[in-house]
Amino acid sequence: MPKRPTPQKPNRKGLRQCVGCRGYFVPATLLRLVRQSSTPANPLPAKAPPPLHVVYPAALGLNQKTTTEGVAYNGRSAWCCPTHTCLTTAIKGKQFARALRCPVPEASLLAIQAKITEK
Ligand SMILES: [Zn+2]
Repeated sequence: MPKRPTPQKPNRKGLRQCVGCRGYFVPATLLRLVRQSSTPANPLPAKAPPPLHVVYPAALGLNQKTTTEGVAYNGRSAWCCPTHTCLTTAIKGKQFARALRCPVPEASLLAIQAKITEK
């Protein structure tokens, strides 16, 4: 598969790309999926699939606990607009698995989508 060319966009510093619409947004407004990485303080078993954490945009009020960026959840992240459209696009295109470089169960993603759509 040919590699997708990287769009040259100015002023995207500090922004995150949505895996659905590919637009660039302020991180606080996006849904974030984090693949937990193994750290000396919190080692993960070698063969187990890495746990995934969901951080919802604060505006939705869905977060179970307050997390500190880079402390509670550090690891590879996938970002997506908290919208039905972007999530559908990302789920259908398996963009979360691609961005996180690990399998992501579709059922978990659909549950996240349902939670957001309820709001
Ligand atoms: Zn989007």
